[in-house]
Amino acid sequence: MFVYETGLTTNRIALFFTIMEQPAPKELKRIFTKVFEDTTYCQRMEIFNPGHGPHDDGSAIDIFLNANDPDERKLADAIVRVLVSEKPRIKWGAIIWNRQTWDNRGGPVPYEQQQTMPHTDHIHIEWGPKGRMTRDFPGLEEKLATVLANHQAGE
Ligand SMILES: [Zn+2]
Repeated sequence: MFVYETGLTTNRIALFFTIMEQPAPKELKRIFTKVFEDTTYCQRMEIFNPGHGPHDDGSAIDIFLNANDPDERKLADAIVRVLVSEKPRIKWGAIIWNRQTWDNRGGPVPYEQQQTMPHTDHIHIEWGPKGRMTRDFPGLEEKLATVLANHQAGE
């Protein structure tokens, strides 16, 4: 539908989607791709997604992990802990994961729309107009690599 309406040819869609990614989610995607490239984790990530709130203009990223899988839930919980502690550098506005949300009120608090959107198959991270321009997350790649190593060691 979207592709048809905008008249994009199929071989230009990937390029167009990349252009519609804001700097912060784009950088987070780059880091996650690198850290988890040799694993089965976080292999699906989505930024630009018309009609899905802050994904409309590429200001959010969904990182797919399954809360109903104990192994993936444990990893996702550890990832969220790092993202929350790194808020001053990542400058996100809100995170939603497994029926809970973190935002400027703190968190975790129960996600208001968990009945219809439980976020049990992905971590949602969104940025505001200023935060989304952040292009560099110092130290985050190393911290996520440590999370992965600890997870693989069964810790
Ligand atoms: Zn999302």
